[in-house]
Amino acid sequence: MYDFNSIIGEEQLKEKMKAVANSGKHSHAYLIVGEKRSGKTTLANCFAKALQCESEGNKPCGMCLSCMQMDAGNHPDVITLKTAKEETIGINDIREGLNDDIVIKPYRSEKKIYIIEDAQKMTRQAQNALLKTLEEPPSYAVIIMTTTSAEAMLQTVLSRTIVLPVRPVPDEAIRRYLMKNAEIPDYRADVFTAFARGNLGKAMDLATSSEFEESKERAVTLLKGIEEKSYSTLYVTAAPFSDKKKASEFNELMDFIRIWYRDALVYKSTGREEGLIFREEIQYIKKVSKEISYEGFEDIFKALKKSQAMLRSNVSTETVADLLLIAVRDCRREPED
Ligand SMILES: [Zn+2]
Repeated sequence: MYDFNSIIGEEQLKEKMKAVANSGKHSHAYLIVGEKRSGKTTLANCFAKALQCESEGNKPCGMCLSCMQMDAGNHPDVITLKTAKEETIGINDIREGLNDDIVIKPYRSEKKIYIIEDAQKMTRQAQNALLKTLEEPPSYAVIIMTTTSAEAMLQTVLSRTIVLPVRPVPDEAIRRYLMKNAEIPDYRADVFTAFARGNLGKAMDLATSSEFEESKERAVTLLKGIEEKSYSTLYVTAAPFSDKKKASEFNELMDFIRIWYRDALVYKSTGREEGLIFREEIQYIKKVSKEISYEGFEDIFKALKKSQAMLRSNVSTETVADLLLIAVRDCRREPED
């Protein structure tokens, strides 16, 4: 069942998709850009459903044969590209799955829609093969791609594509959803909302993961008294991140660091406990808020930003982790009185 109403937030994007479908004037290629688990695939399918809907009224109607076929997952003119490998989309995937197939007219609809998920996995050659179709698409063809990164796409592909960014869902909407639909108590909903940063899928993953609590424990243990940890201790902590598979764990650790110090900064400037994520560690949060100066908090948030930039430019996770932990340890403190 593909229903725009089931997607929380993204009002502008949903309205835009419906408007395109209702106007009957569509482009040949779209690229939906958003984080992992941000609902891109659902959006792509809802969009395809609206574009294919046969109703004279508002699309998608949910009642016509086309809408029903979409919901049943067997629309003959909406094709999700299958790939031979999981990690990459290769030139043959595009040639066989798209270029050779797209020349065949739609089965019964006016349009023939291809959905390419995770388009960032397309190799350069695959993108160049796709470009051939984008340069001269058949009039009935629409290609809807989803990707976590528009930067992974060739400029030549991007220039022939309408980019549709998925925006973060407002925190309050995520919090409400967790409490209402997943029956999570408010103080826990606050925690997951803070970590999800506008990604509802991620919030749900966190809420149902048993590992989250463990990683939280680990992060808290590390951050408590980090100022006294020796260089070699921090080095040992950072070392496991050299494993590529641990990259997402490091991202999680960065989230914990960000929220831990944000809590302390909020407490330092307001003296209030409500709204803090690490409320159960309030004694430590108070201590940290006293010890670190405002400039020190700035040092930490700058170091977090810098870490992200370094990861984007492919500096090894181990090195980034090492530098970040040292920056956090050595941030500016309040003068002792
Ligand atoms: Zn319909």
